[in-house]
Amino acid sequence: MIRFFSPEELYGMPTEEAATFCNERINKLIKSSPFVYGYKEGTHITWGYLDKTITHCARLMFIEEIKKEPCKHEPILKQNEDGYNQRHICKHCGVELVTEWKEKGAK
Ligand SMILES: [Zn+2]
Repeated sequence: MIRFFSPEELYGMPTEEAATFCNERINKLIKSSPFVYGYKEGTHITWGYLDKTITHCARLMFIEEIKKEPCKHEPILKQNEDGYNQRHICKHCGVELVTEWKEKGAK
């Protein structure tokens, strides 16, 4: 749970002053949040970039990075543009992979 206010901050404040304090903090948070833009088709709004088709805007709040698990690469052969050579790339993420040669049976 996100705590926007602590009891200590509001302790002893008259109600009106506490409401102003809380509203100012929330408005500051809203103003510091980036916009996203969208256009409405029927009942659905598609969010994207600012352009001439936009009909709506919204604020993005509480943005968190998605921590992804590292890819467990799985090599596949991909034909090069020259049509002759091939290289290994990962089937899942597409990075080019290199082979590590080692003696058979070695760890
Ligand atoms: Zn991969």
